[in-house]
Amino acid sequence: MSTPRSVKAEPVRSGTDRPPLKILFIAAECAPFIKVGGLADVVGSLPLALKELGHDVRVIMPRYRPIDGKHFGLKRVDRFIEVPAGTDTRTTEIVESTFSGVPTYFVWDERFFGRDRVYGEPDEVMAFTFFSRAAIEFIHTLDWTPDVIHAHDWHTGCALAQLALRERRDPKLKSIATVFTIHNLLYQGLSGDALWQFAGFTDRPRRISGEPPGRVNWLARGIAHADVVNTVSPTYAAEILTPEMGNGLDGLLSQRRGQVSGILNGLDYAEWNPATDTRLAATYTAATLKRRSINKRAVQDQLGLKRKPRTPLIGLVTRLYDQKGLDLIVAAADRLFERDVQLVVLGSGDEKYHTALAELKARYPGRVGLEHNFNERLARLIYGGSDLFLMPSHFEPCGLGQLIAMRYGSVPVVRATGGLADTVIDAGRAPNRGTGFVFKPATAVGLLGALDRALAAYQEPDRWTAIQRRGLAADFSWQVSAQQYVALYQAAMKAHRK
Ligand code: ADP
Repeated sequence: MSTPRSVKAEPVRSGTDRPPLKILFIAAECAPFIKVGGLADVVGSLPLALKELGHDVRVIMPRYRPIDGKHFGLKRVDRFIEVPAGTDTRTTEIVESTFSGVPTYFVWDERFFGRDRVYGEPDEVMAFTFFSRAAIEFIHTLDWTPDVIHAHDWHTGCALAQLALRERRDPKLKSIATVFTIHNLLYQGLSGDALWQFAGFTDRPRRISGEPPGRVNWLARGIAHADVVNTVSPTYAAEILTPEMGNGLDGLLSQRRGQVSGILNGLDYAEWNPATDTRLAATYTAATLKRRSINKRAVQDQLGLKRKPRTPLIGLVTRLYDQKGLDLIVAAADRLFERDVQLVVLGSGDEKYHTALAELKARYPGRVGLEHNFNERLARLIYGGSDLFLMPSHFEPCGLGQLIAMRYGSVPVVRATGGLADTVIDAGRAPNRGTGFVFKPATAVGLLGALDRALAAYQEPDRWTAIQRRGLAADFSWQVSAQQYVALYQAAMKAHRK
């Protein structure tokens, strides 16, 4: 691929000329333990790639109720920490697992994480503030000090504020460099400023750009206090510096422009492999793409569609929120169904999209299949059985759906934004290199234009197979990106020493 994979990350020095790094990931979700979206994929797979490069990586995350302790071998090791929470101090247990080959620590506190879902509880900002505090307290109890803390998204902004503003005199903590990765600028962790007291700050710290008076903004704090900041694709890194896409934080990000870079997410190619995926109805390779029809039929059966082997099946596996461009699909739907197509949607989210999709299903019986759960098996079946994979996102920091789709031979139709623009090559514009179909205007007409080009290509089997095969052959594994993260960690350590 000629696509740029990063901006501004320092050149990688390979080999053993630098000692292995000790890196602690702090994150709200991590596959396979629990997953809501792409954040879990990244936190579950980047540590493995870094480990392959010889680094010592560990992860700390909350232990939510649905995490299956037995299945994942969670161990109680008699480790308890005292976590200040407002005027209170809570005794909290840390449990451990090495299920994924990476030591993973879980903050187990019934009050804050004895909940069934990761996000969306009314007190979630307080819960993740507590988690951030716990992560810092936890480091005190370890006989291992990270060189770098790699913190992810707003849920961990308080940990970086804590380190930068309070703990610098602590000999155990003062040498730790920090990297903050923004996976989605939309979610910022906003709260009233009573939270400062809960977080253990006696005075409200100095105001920063993007944090209005009387408010706490943990994403802004993460950006302000980290040694270096990055996001998950080069294009999104550039987009978030603009007022149109900066979500109120473009000013703050621009102040730190020199420390903001973009590194494309990788995909765990062992985890996502159509040749070995036991959750498919039929496995296949680039040489046996015809076997995908077995998966297509399974999707059609499972979601109540007519069995039509030759009708293009359009798949979506996504959270159903405005970001993902569902409005464009709904607006285009009636014109779309003038074509011979079927549509399957797996995902849940905003009620208005559940309703709109249910109406479509009623209007086009046998042509629309819906499931509003989190369903890993069905997701894989859709990647392995759909012909086209639709991602008309208004913005997309990186997007993993299109990477998985290419890996599984479902041709992506995407809007040219963020990581989608960096990873999918338009087959019309680059006939010998194209891996999908790309459109720019965020309109139903723009979407239909790209879909029509894709549907025309579908009618030319040789051309279609060539596009699929190029998708399968594209390399978005972690290898390159993990090396770029190592360079970023080294840059953070250098910045921190200064
Ligand atoms: P985001 O992180 O914004 O949700 P990404 O495309 O980066 O979007 O990652 C989404 C990930 O979550 C992909 O691995 C996708 O397969 C998965 N996913 C999304 N919704 C579901 C669902 N309902 N069931 C199973 N997997 C899902």
